[in-house]
Amino acid sequence: MHKENQPLIFESSTPGRIGYSLPEFDVPEVDLENLIPKEYLREMEPELPEVSELDIMRHYTALSKRNHGVDSGFYPLGSCTMKYNPKINEEVARMDGFAHVHPLQEERTVQGALELMYDLQEHLVEITGMDAVTLQSAAGAHGEWTGLMMIRAFHEANGDFERVKVIVPDSAHGTNPASAVVAGFETVTVKSNEEGLVDLDDLRRVVGNDTAALMLTNPNTLGLFEENILEMADIVHGAGGKLYYDGANLNAVLSKARPGDMGFDVVHLNLHKTFTGPHGGGGPGSGPVGVKNELVPFLPKPIIAKVKDQFVLDYDRPQSIGRIKPYYGNFGINVRAYTYIRSMGPDGLKAVTENAVLNANYMMRRLAPYYDLPYDKHCKHEFVLSGRRQKKLGVRTLDIAKRLLDFGYHPPTIYFPLNVEECIMIEPTETESKETLDSFIDVMIQIAKEAESNPEIVQEAPHTTVVSRLDETLAARKPVLRYKREE
Ligand SMILES: *Cc1c(COP(=O)(O)O)cnc(C)c1O
Repeated sequence: MHKENQPLIFESSTPGRIGYSLPEFDVPEVDLENLIPKEYLREMEPELPEVSELDIMRHYTALSKRNHGVDSGFYPLGSCTMKYNPKINEEVARMDGFAHVHPLQEERTVQGALELMYDLQEHLVEITGMDAVTLQSAAGAHGEWTGLMMIRAFHEANGDFERVKVIVPDSAHGTNPASAVVAGFETVTVKSNEEGLVDLDDLRRVVGNDTAALMLTNPNTLGLFEENILEMADIVHGAGGKLYYDGANLNAVLSKARPGDMGFDVVHLNLHKTFTGPHGGGGPGSGPVGVKNELVPFLPKPIIAKVKDQFVLDYDRPQSIGRIKPYYGNFGINVRAYTYIRSMGPDGLKAVTENAVLNANYMMRRLAPYYDLPYDKHCKHEFVLSGRRQKKLGVRTLDIAKRLLDFGYHPPTIYFPLNVEECIMIEPTETESKETLDSFIDVMIQIAKEAESNPEIVQEAPHTTVVSRLDETLAARKPVLRYKREE
């Protein structure tokens, strides 16, 4: 329901009013009907609002104020690492030499850009403990798919065509099974034990000659560090499978532990999470993939190589899985991540992890008296609560999330992972102050108390937003409903 006094942009429309001025036409007019097949041409003019430049400016400014973003408020969206994006990243990414290069320029004219990519790869090799890194993949899920395609190419190069299964724990991020299927594998689920970690007996049961890989999200989506990784590595490697590390949650282990040292063969990172690329809202991402030596021949091509003191794009890679993205990855996001790594330095990156974990544990302990804590042990960068106590009072976790909107907070992730009843997954990140954490905690405590004394106020939330609860399925499937002007 729309609750605001401000008219819709369609309601402000006055026929004939225009907010733009275009220069005189100085090229011959083209007859579209000869150029584009008739069935693709629209039959009617689009029904666009007709408003002045000032009105359209106010329209978009008003819309932008309704949005949630890290720059406007606390955004504790578990598993998404919504941390502050330092503005120096933007300044560097906008430097002429980075912003105005063209991917088709000759190598000798873009040595600086190639050097930055090469250096970033070297930093990520060091951070992950792998032997080589590609920057081509454009997101975490794209990195997963890229890594799995390399694993597949590796097995096939060994004449091993029976390895068709990828093992995925039930606490994995949802993109893991999806990427495995898109890469042509079948998925097998391995259960979590009562401590929230991968059940080793169940892993032994499902592993076999048909295992291509185990994909592990670590820390897992419960915010828990998988304590038996070395045993898992033995079990999977012993059966001839490869180990895949979903490193999107690297904020919890950065500079403290390296997937390469734990026995992993492939890892992907999310530069748009851990390494402060802005994300959400569909901005470009970057999901570099690191591999051990055995898998290096299969890396996407071209790779950036250093020949004497020149950087070159090497296409001569006969076993490569090929190109997986036009050109060389989302260069602008890679510039931002490089700036972040260089401006933080090794000590800064260590502090990131320590503070991310400290902030999460602080919040978890302060909220534990008011919400159920399904796994009562130290968490890493995020933690899960259960709203099952509130559910008994008729207040669902969804209601709690909606009530948070009344206080200006973007709600945490809810109803995931699936194995926790009425799950609430909170990731504060290291960039938030104690005051911000305390304000949010106070609101969460207030909502827990409201659930007991005045459940309607939570059940009917949000009360302060421009629209109340939406039909979420309809909103996702049909984001634009045609506006009908009242006659
Ligand atoms: C975000 C995330 C992904 C997917 O990354 P995208 O860039 O959204 O594709 C994968 N795994 C984990 C653990 C994540 O948090």
